[in-house]
Amino acid sequence: MEQTDVAIIGGGPAGLAAAERLSHHGHAVTVYDAMPTVARKFLLAGKSGLNITHSEPFERFAERFGDASPRLRAALDAFTPQEVRDWAAGLGTETFVGSSGRVFPEVMKASPLLRAWLRRLDAQGVVIRTRHRWTGFAGGNLLFETPDGEKRVASKATLLALGGASWPRLGSDAAWVAPLREKGVDIAPFRPANCGFDVTWSESFRERFAGEPVKAVTASSAAGTLPGEFVISRHGIEGSLVYAHAASLRDALEREGRVSLVLDLAPGRVRERIARDLARQDPKASLSTRLRKGAGIDGVKAALVRELVPDAGKATADALAAAIKRLPVPLLRPRPIAEAISSAGGIRWDAVDEHYMLKALPGIFVAGEMIDWEAPTGGYLLTACLATGKAAAEGMESWLHEQARYG
Ligand SMILES: Cc1cc2nc3c(=O)[nH]c(=O)nc-3n(C[C@H](O)[C@H](O)[C@H](O)COP(=O)(O)OP(=O)(O)OC[C@H]3O[C@@H](n4cnc5c(N)ncnc54)[C@H](O)[C@@H]3O)c2cc1C
Repeated sequence: MEQTDVAIIGGGPAGLAAAERLSHHGHAVTVYDAMPTVARKFLLAGKSGLNITHSEPFERFAERFGDASPRLRAALDAFTPQEVRDWAAGLGTETFVGSSGRVFPEVMKASPLLRAWLRRLDAQGVVIRTRHRWTGFAGGNLLFETPDGEKRVASKATLLALGGASWPRLGSDAAWVAPLREKGVDIAPFRPANCGFDVTWSESFRERFAGEPVKAVTASSAAGTLPGEFVISRHGIEGSLVYAHAASLRDALEREGRVSLVLDLAPGRVRERIARDLARQDPKASLSTRLRKGAGIDGVKAALVRELVPDAGKATADALAAAIKRLPVPLLRPRPIAEAISSAGGIRWDAVDEHYMLKALPGIFVAGEMIDWEAPTGGYLLTACLATGKAAAEGMESWLHEQARYG
């Protein structure tokens, strides 16, 4: 039987943030992770630049978590976006604010930050045990599958920071749901968040345009109207502008069974002007020529008009202009959760006390994406994972203190 003061299971940003805090305050910490190395999703996030936080005013930032915002507020107050930047700088990773207000490391990757972080944890005495898959509880102990067989661990306090359900091959496969449900922990079903959607493209459109970016458009859903860009995929649509609408589109599909993302392909021009310019075109010219000369629309944008407007070639200038300004892209379903950037669902807030301890399992704390909150892309996910990791660590410290005092 292995003994440790503090067991942290899951070596993603939430678990490592907790390990940093607890070890800094002198606790003996062991981090267990199922994978051969820790923080694989964090490293993958680094492939797209590692958007670590956001520079918008804090009040707006703290509202980005929807219904979960009030519950996350105390943790975010105690680890603000500026503190995230200071923390990264303290580990040698300076950050900058991109044009959209998103904050990135100057090196646009995660590996130098992770290396420095792991060095700090090592210096603070944190032990990391990889290839340790937590499978549940055995009496009061933690049970792991390891290359050397089953292992039991006794800890005074435990943090579960096992991640959500997206990209399971990076380690967060949500297999933890079963052992926690068995113990009476209420867990909301996982759903894809920040995900793409399936669209029925014609064979010719898919072959010609899959992988093509659609730039400088706006897209509308119940979430509002936002500018940006997205990508045509073989299955449908992907990319930042789609992710920004994903929660609202997903919820509408669940509620009503159908929904469209509505595009404005020419945000800089008013419909009347486009209609007038289109009406001036030679009616015998091809649709592509008329769209290009009359509306400044070509390439993938013109192809979207042809693909989604029935009989576009015969449509009047007015109808074409209306379609260019309000082109509904009918969505079939979200892409599978395994492809999503993040997940919604997880341990319900009612199951967690204000110190991030599970009400059903005293001494067992939770942090990160495994709790039931979601947020758009923009650095909100990592910030909330770091902040809840730190908040749970504080909860564990109070718990350990109480236990030492009253036994
Ligand atoms: C492609 C991609 C890009 C992203 N880019 C960004 C970005 O730019 N900005 C941003 O804010 N967010 C981004 N995210 C989201 C962000 O990476 C996650 O929200 C964050 O990593 C979640 O942190 P976590 O610590 O809660 O869980 P995770 O990072 O998922 O870590 C959980 C850990 O637990 C381990 N584990 C799971 N089950 C077990 C078990 N049974 N036993 C032992 N160990 C286990 C896993 O191996 C893993 O190491 C991105 C995600 C993806 C997929």
